[in-house]
Amino acid sequence: MATPIHQPPASGSTLAPDDRSCANCGSQLVRRYCADCGQPAPGPADYSIRAHAAEFVDQLASVDGKIGRTLWALVARPGALTVDHLAGRRARYLRPLQLFLVVNVLLFVIAPRVPMFTYSLRSYLADAPPSPVVVASLVRRTSAATDMSAYTAAFDGRVESQRKSLIILFAPALALLFRALFARRTKRAGVPHRYGEHLVFALHLLAFIWLAVTGWGALGTLSSLAHTRTLNVLTIVLLVALFAATPIYLLRALARVYALTRIQSLAVLTALLTSFVGLVVAYRTMLFFTTYYTLN
Ligand SMILES: [Zn+2]
Repeated sequence: MATPIHQPPASGSTLAPDDRSCANCGSQLVRRYCADCGQPAPGPADYSIRAHAAEFVDQLASVDGKIGRTLWALVARPGALTVDHLAGRRARYLRPLQLFLVVNVLLFVIAPRVPMFTYSLRSYLADAPPSPVVVASLVRRTSAATDMSAYTAAFDGRVESQRKSLIILFAPALALLFRALFARRTKRAGVPHRYGEHLVFALHLLAFIWLAVTGWGALGTLSSLAHTRTLNVLTIVLLVALFAATPIYLLRALARVYALTRIQSLAVLTALLTSFVGLVVAYRTMLFFTTYYTLN
């Protein structure tokens, strides 16, 4: 007796796997997850309290674990995050932009009043770029400045909110700088060459610098609050150690990512620090003008 080749499914509840398509992008599902976009197939259990709780814990653990792991790699192994990213080892860490944003939040939460990034109308009128003379004459010209104290308060509030969004411009600017510095270097596997690759390193490097600045800010606040001599000395020692460790870190990161000798990375660091001062001046100038013109 011959068995039929095409047997209908025993019950209507199961479909053959290759009959199903992803609800999100329409690709064929192989198993539970879409091979194209990664979305799991929706099911009736998705809306149970248990599923919500499991997802919550899962998200928290995966984000938390990634943040910790990425910050640790960033601090403990200079340049390694970039090397890993360019070699394709990415899923275990936050993406470069995510890391940069996380560190920015830390910077503005833990160290909101770090002098390098703190501006007010008073500081612009005293000594900050673009130029006190230009700032004074522009402020005199605005009609809003008839009530100077109200204008100052409005200006300072606006600067405060804009500096947080403008700080992101450091990354593309720094990447341009790397591209210019390494333009004549011959192409090597795993070493940043394209603009987008320099940008990954720029984001990682800035994340570290912002983290160091956060540390300086936090320690500075701590030492001003310290009432005992021992605590005061301790915070100052930590501050000095952090200041000394930062250039060493930068040298190691540069050497690792761009495969440089010690002398080469010293030369690059010098160029970098000089240009960074220029970047800060450009940032402060831009911040003044965007604040000034959006207030008028
Ligand atoms: Zn899909």
